[in-house]
Amino acid sequence: MSAFKSYKTTCSYCGVGCGIIAKKDPKGVITVEGDPDHPVNKGMLCSKGMNLHHVVQDKSDRILYPEMRWSKGHDRQRVSWDQALDRAVSVFSTMIDKYGSDSIGFYVSGQCLTEEYYLVNKLTKGFIGTNNIDTNSRLCMSSAVVGYKQALGEDSVPVAYEDIELADCFMIAGANPAWCHPILFRRIEAHKEKNPNTKIIVVDPRKTQSCDIADLHLQILPGTDVILYNAIAKRLIDRKRIDKSFIANHTDNFEALKASLQSVSLTEAAKTCGITIAEIKKAASYIGDAKGFITLWAMGLNQSSIGVNKNNALLNLSLLTGHIGKPGSGPFSLTGQPNAMGGREVGGMANLLAAHKDLSNDHHRREVSNFWGGKEISAKPGLTATEMFDALESGKLKAIWIICTNPLVSLPNANKVEKALKNAKFVVVQDISHRSETVEYADLLLPAAGWAEKEGTMTNSERRVTYLNKVVDPPGEAISDSEILWNFARRMGYKGFDYSSVEEVYKEHCILTKGTNIDISGLNYNRLKVEGSFQWPVPENTHSGTSRLFENKRFYTDTGNAKFVVPRFTKPTSEMITEKYPLILTTGRVRDQWHTRTKTGKVNRLLTHIPSPYLEINRVDAYLHKVKDGDIALVESKRGKVQVKIKVSDAINKGVVFLPMHWGKVLGNDFGRANNLTTNIVDPISKEPDFKFSAVRVTKF
Ligand code: SF4
Repeated sequence: MSAFKSYKTTCSYCGVGCGIIAKKDPKGVITVEGDPDHPVNKGMLCSKGMNLHHVVQDKSDRILYPEMRWSKGHDRQRVSWDQALDRAVSVFSTMIDKYGSDSIGFYVSGQCLTEEYYLVNKLTKGFIGTNNIDTNSRLCMSSAVVGYKQALGEDSVPVAYEDIELADCFMIAGANPAWCHPILFRRIEAHKEKNPNTKIIVVDPRKTQSCDIADLHLQILPGTDVILYNAIAKRLIDRKRIDKSFIANHTDNFEALKASLQSVSLTEAAKTCGITIAEIKKAASYIGDAKGFITLWAMGLNQSSIGVNKNNALLNLSLLTGHIGKPGSGPFSLTGQPNAMGGREVGGMANLLAAHKDLSNDHHRREVSNFWGGKEISAKPGLTATEMFDALESGKLKAIWIICTNPLVSLPNANKVEKALKNAKFVVVQDISHRSETVEYADLLLPAAGWAEKEGTMTNSERRVTYLNKVVDPPGEAISDSEILWNFARRMGYKGFDYSSVEEVYKEHCILTKGTNIDISGLNYNRLKVEGSFQWPVPENTHSGTSRLFENKRFYTDTGNAKFVVPRFTKPTSEMITEKYPLILTTGRVRDQWHTRTKTGKVNRLLTHIPSPYLEINRVDAYLHKVKDGDIALVESKRGKVQVKIKVSDAINKGVVFLPMHWGKVLGNDFGRANNLTTNIVDPISKEPDFKFSAVRVTKF
């Protein structure tokens, strides 16, 4: 018998959701390998996933015990869990009594497990009595949520990864899956290798590694996506390459879309987008010829002042061609975080309610508050991510509880976030690592268990719910986020938090989904452990999950039809470039780093790929701005400045510069901190920030 113990779990990084087998030797040392039986990755892992064991084993940065400061001028001191939680209860109760429930907020993460997400929502919306609970998923996929809701009636990804091998045309828009969703990309790559006639269109202002397999790279100017998708839609309609029967029988609002496209000129569109008319025609012909057409998109669409409109315009292409609810077809939003989807299922945002119920619906709110047995849930949406920090800065929000996220690096306009945290009356940070820059501002610091140190579930981009095993005990006095939350709730005197296990939280969440479109009442821990992962809905305990949605062509809208939404803006509403700030800054990820590097930044192997931040700039712009490869440049926007090394490149459009989003401020050094520069502009509906478009200037430092 092997001395090793094996545990099935899921990668804690991106939304691809690869299955992992963690092995523990008798001394407690763990190693990881891809799970060959997992339907997502079939044994493969990318560089980040295959180095996860180093993250767990290196305890040097871990927060080991609760710390607290008695007042703002004092250093934090080690305290017991009792002292820490008593302080949290005392401060939060005082704030609520004095300023009302809306004076406090919770800011959480798409890396939280579903059970943790469920608990913090229940606590905030159902018992404290405020909807001020938002998440870093607001920065990631909130535009896609609105797009899906408007077109399909609900936030529902219709596609499965198994559709990849059935498609013959892909449009990868505003995404670089080769680096950001590597195992998903490997599947597309392998499919293309086997089926060379498969067409791949990449839409991106940068020539990324994802373009290596592209038949067509539409290197558009930032912010012009809607114009491009509308031009393709017009071409499809004019050339009669649309699915008339699907449109007539299963959609609404086609005539309005058609009328709105009347004035679209391919010549004008090509000019505005910075591409050729022939390229637009080619994209339309690839899509028009396809038997299976999948769109894949990520932050290039979502992180925009017109993110919802970009989503609308792209979704229209799937509806026009009837490529939804059938094999190898559909619009597929790629989630950046491992459990962004699970968070949406439990209503983990300021404008959502648990189990995909509607916060604005009186009946739904009553149903959920009766189920929880707490307070009446307010109909008023809470503060979103950026609004919460604006409110801290202005003093409207008094206290914030930050869980598993590092807003000081990840939110736009970092200098403003810094001011907001300084101005807060009370900041709780619940996390695993001292590497999070936000820890510096914690008045109360709570040590949480990390990946492999707790059990729970997550849902990946294709609606697949997976169980994560606990492999090792957390270090020091760290405990799971669920335990921290229910211990706090009990001390606040709230009924309904008497859980003795995380499984009980999961069961409660499943019951609440019964009868909804995301019904997982047929899915329990035992099935997940024994049978593996499942795609929702799973309404019965004999149900095997739902690979593809809408195969019956019944959508979740009132009419049962999918809806064409006419994008309201066709022009960017981003910050304007000026003579003083003539370049467009766009930010994004690099292959081997994850978010704010609190985990990947401590793995030496992951630092060999790209060890430090850089500003990618076109050769012509480098010449015009008098910088050369390897120079240290000063990059400035209206909000701040940053020094960074120059990387001259032909892969980026003239007029555009790129800076990775991962680097923060270490020991006062903010070399390459991209969010010193980014703007506060958000999409008016989704409230997702415009990370891909800030006006900057570049000079030699
Ligand atoms: Fe993890 Fe994503 Fe890499 Fe898979 S592709 S191993 S989920 S980071």
